[in-house]
Amino acid sequence: MFILIVLAFLAGLILYQYFLTHKKWNSVYWNPKTRRFFHPWKPTLSIVTIKALWKILSAPSVKWPQKLNVEKLPVIDRSKELIITNIGHATFLIQMDNLNIITDPVFSNRAGPFGILGPKRIVQPGISLESLPPLDVAFISHNHYDHLDKSTVLNLAKNHPNITFIVPLGIKTKLLKWGIQRPIIELDWWTSHEIAQLKITAVPAQHWSRRGFFDTNKTLWMGGMFETNQGSVFFAGDTGLGPHFNHIADRFKHIDVGLLPIGSYKPYSVMKQQHMGPKDALEAHKALKTKAMIPIHYDVFQLGKEEFLEAEEELIKEVKVLKIPKQEIKILKVGQRLEANPHFQK
Ligand SMILES: [Zn+2]
Repeated sequence: MFILIVLAFLAGLILYQYFLTHKKWNSVYWNPKTRRFFHPWKPTLSIVTIKALWKILSAPSVKWPQKLNVEKLPVIDRSKELIITNIGHATFLIQMDNLNIITDPVFSNRAGPFGILGPKRIVQPGISLESLPPLDVAFISHNHYDHLDKSTVLNLAKNHPNITFIVPLGIKTKLLKWGIQRPIIELDWWTSHEIAQLKITAVPAQHWSRRGFFDTNKTLWMGGMFETNQGSVFFAGDTGLGPHFNHIADRFKHIDVGLLPIGSYKPYSVMKQQHMGPKDALEAHKALKTKAMIPIHYDVFQLGKEEFLEAEEELIKEVKVLKIPKQEIKILKVGQRLEANPHFQK
């Protein structure tokens, strides 16, 4: 009897997932045969092979600190000039031309389902959820738990009346299911949306998506370009190093600041497909010709097998090896911000 109940539950779960994600997309990055999204330049990650799993499990485990305090700066309500604040992991506040944009907002204590599973946050958010300035845009790069957090999304929708959610193809359904009643704009790669004086363009990333058991790559993943007369900021989302950075550089000739991920890159042979390490991020910075790079996606949630602080230390080392001018790399601790100066103006 018990087995029958379990089987019925599993069958229900499969049907539910199937109907939830069974949709046709008019996108060249959606394969009608597999009914999944893909990146055309490299096979898209879909299953974890035994070999990859073994490499992850056999890599020596590393111990991170339990909890770290953060020095919080007074919050700036709005700014004409560009200001970028590190709230933690991929959550950044971009302020420019009197607009406030938040990327991949995650304020929960765990990056996982139900608030009880998944890696624990070791650094508190650089700005608390209650102290955020009025937000105009929440940009969500993909559906992994460390980038899309239900309780944060619900809180932002409730407390920020002007907010518009910008999401990749396939994620709108989820937000609607959560009861979000603010505008939700779904973008395919190379499509744009304008909000007042801000132009947001979705750009490719080398990654994948999964939230449940059977929805691998059923929703798209993306990076974002944010442009106003005050400057242009590129947010890479979650990505490995790939030729898409050259494609982005071909279309965007003047990028002021690039927010590029450097963490969760070990074991490198397994992770490089989906995440950049510090050296990869510097290669991307060179390909994009960004005036300045801010490293993101490290030392907040332990997702890879690197030591705490290792990504940052390796970044500093590689800057010297690759002979990149030091002033181009802006390392922001959680809570710190980069304020514009004439260097970033067009
Ligand atoms: Zn991800």
